[in-house]
Amino acid sequence: MSKKIMNCVIIGSGPAGYSAAIYAARADLNPILFVGFQPGGQLTVTTDVDNYPGFPIGISGNELMENCKKQALRFNTLIIHKTITEVYLSNQKGGVHFINIENKENIESKGIIIATGSRPKFLGLDKEKKFIGLGVSFCATCDGYFHKGKDVAVVGGGDTALEEASYLSKICKNVYLFVRKNYFRASKALQNRILKKKNINIFFCYQVIEIMGDRFLEGIKIMNNKDKNTKILFISGLFISIGHTPNTELFKNQLNLDKNGYIIVERGGTSTNKPGVFAAGDVQDPIYRQAITSAGTGCMAALDLERYLYLY
Ligand SMILES: Cc1cc2nc3c(=O)[nH]c(=O)nc-3n(C[C@H](O)[C@H](O)[C@H](O)COP(=O)(O)OP(=O)(O)OC[C@H]3O[C@@H](n4cnc5c(N)ncnc54)[C@H](O)[C@@H]3O)c2cc1C
Repeated sequence: MSKKIMNCVIIGSGPAGYSAAIYAARADLNPILFVGFQPGGQLTVTTDVDNYPGFPIGISGNELMENCKKQALRFNTLIIHKTITEVYLSNQKGGVHFINIENKENIESKGIIIATGSRPKFLGLDKEKKFIGLGVSFCATCDGYFHKGKDVAVVGGGDTALEEASYLSKICKNVYLFVRKNYFRASKALQNRILKKKNINIFFCYQVIEIMGDRFLEGIKIMNNKDKNTKILFISGLFISIGHTPNTELFKNQLNLDKNGYIIVERGGTSTNKPGVFAAGDVQDPIYRQAITSAGTGCMAALDLERYLYLY
């Protein structure tokens, strides 16, 4: 057990965590970064990342995150391949927080940057995970362009699904929107917007029951929930928009979370309701959920922590 009080513990190894580490390390905060159950974060399950600036011909998600890791190491970030299992967050300004590693040892730190991300919800179908980046997607902004001029499907009836369908309708030939219930959960304004789009075809009371294709997605089998009739639809992209779960189980009862479990941060910043605890990336962002916004808020969190440590 280490008795030394650290300045900066970063929980998470996605774009937010590594960006925070690079800034914190260059400010001499000697950060320790815990990698967690998904080293490199969500981008490691995708193929090409085409929308991260600085890579004119794109870069694979794994290579991008490996580069981030190397950059953090270059400035002597201590990277630990373990998961945080419990935290005790102080209410005092300048207070010390306790961080438990895999139910074994504790470390103490005046500052914590939470970058634990989120995870998309799955339909639970065969090939759904295998075809991520090969036709199956959880993000129209990220992958819509790969399906330019082609037919795609969106699953979901909430705000995000309708926004994804609306975004895709500008790029793709036809968008098929499958809603399990016979109504939308999305706002009226969004419903009105998509009802005006000629190339969005809405199917209420339908669900996707099979993902088809050998090496990549070629089509889907859909079923009408009322009469149980099935159909096959040939599409190049399937966008699953049934929600994300932020990785905030650790912080329940200690940090202010919104109704969906996202950490609430100060507007325009990264401070949480506990002094010295900052949050960055998808874990505090139910709206944008991009690598670049995660990296941006990771940078903000490190700068916010540096200022906090200077004051306390
Ligand atoms: C399939 C797919 C494709 C995508 N494609 C793109 C794209 O092309 N462009 C784009 O901009 N965005 C894309 N995104 C979104 C992008 O991946 C996320 O916005 C981004 O990764 C969020 O970064 P983050 O650092 O907040 O968290 P994440 O990347 O989610 O990383 C979270 C990290 O926290 C760690 N962690 C969680 N709990 C603990 C714990 N208890 N202890 C220690 N560590 C913990 C995990 O191990 C992980 O390393 C894609 C997402 C998916 C799922």
